[in-house]
Amino acid sequence: MKRLSILGSTGSIGTQTLEVVRSYSDDLSVVSLSAGRNVKLMEAQAREFKPRLVCMYDEKAAAELKERLTDTDIKVLSGMEGLIEAATLKSADIVVTAVVGMIGIRPTIAAIEAGKDIALANKETLVCAGHIIMPLAKEKKVKILPVDSEHSAIFQSLQGTPKGRCEKILLTASGGPFRGKKYDELKDMQVEDALKHPNWSMGRKITVDSSTLVNKGLEVMEARWLFDVSIDDIEVVVHPQSIIHSAVQFVDGAIIAQLGLPDMKLPIQYALFYPDRRPMEGKRADLFALSSLTFERPDSATFRGLSLAIEAGKCGGSMPTVFNAANERAVGLFLEKRIGFLSIYELIEAAMRAHRVIENPDVDEILNAEKESYAIIDERLKQ
Ligand code: NDP
Repeated sequence: MKRLSILGSTGSIGTQTLEVVRSYSDDLSVVSLSAGRNVKLMEAQAREFKPRLVCMYDEKAAAELKERLTDTDIKVLSGMEGLIEAATLKSADIVVTAVVGMIGIRPTIAAIEAGKDIALANKETLVCAGHIIMPLAKEKKVKILPVDSEHSAIFQSLQGTPKGRCEKILLTASGGPFRGKKYDELKDMQVEDALKHPNWSMGRKITVDSSTLVNKGLEVMEARWLFDVSIDDIEVVVHPQSIIHSAVQFVDGAIIAQLGLPDMKLPIQYALFYPDRRPMEGKRADLFALSSLTFERPDSATFRGLSLAIEAGKCGGSMPTVFNAANERAVGLFLEKRIGFLSIYELIEAAMRAHRVIENPDVDEILNAEKESYAIIDERLKQ
């Protein structure tokens, strides 16, 4: 029996992780669940999966949940302390990091320090703190198992080949809902348009990130840390059908890819059972039914989320944090309809230009860089 701690259980990845647990209840169990403020769903999850501990980051939500769960012996916690306790619970074997944003950094580090394997969906954590997380994971001998579909595909493609034999990573991208649009057309794009992803159903923030290509930029940085390659060895390939989830080109020229229909339960399940493959119900990719698989170069001059991310990743130090934090704030403002679509790029760029890079930032410096980016954006909004 593998015992799971799920950070972000009420979100898109969190609920799909629980679907996997539901279908493998003899092999998987849940010892802790945590989320932000969705009390109603958390109560239902707690009653169904009977964890020892649950945490709502939001104090008020935690108080309400505690009230609702008085008839159970489930411990209810709140805040960062609660997230860390949930992530480090003695009985947990693996921590699924499915919270959205940089809030995942401290609990992920704490979980690694406690010797837990990590099924990592929360890419923002690696983007900002990959230089801390990857060496720590090596030191503590814990596995970082990718949940992001592209990174899982790369991870699957690398199985069985010795390290150092990868020439290039081919990171696929659907291109998002605005693929093919020109810069002038993007200025009128609304929240509703950005949330219509052609192939994947995901949380709101990552869906907007897919429309700006920021998500692909974050994934380049995530891949750089996960697979220990240089950013120059990662090539983004737009593949609108989202059937090839990514590929690796090896030193002998062979390309190995993982294909399938878009369904996050596969990479989640692969991470939970690695290196095993377990049966999964559902539709299969029918090669005869696929009329064609097409590939394009990304238009990173228009979709500047990708070019700014690559610039931040190559600069390194605290710059990826600034890129990520500015994006988190800008996407929040866009979702609240306070700024237009193209302002997301403008705000990220403004924060990056204003930042003095810190080499090898520690967690406090990362969190300060986050605050600094927010302040720059708030200041610009006042102008
Ligand atoms: P969602 O927005 O659907 O869910 C986010 C989760 O994080 C919710 O459970 C939410 O809780 C929780 N949360 C938010 N703020 C806090 C906080 N301060 N403390 C604790 N928990 C918090 O996001 P997704 O599931 O889409 O994405 C999660 C992560 O996985 C992201 O990093 C994303 O980039 C990555 N990812 C997602 C994919 C997908 O298909 N969705 C694919 C690949 C990667 P609540 O709702 O209760 O407030």
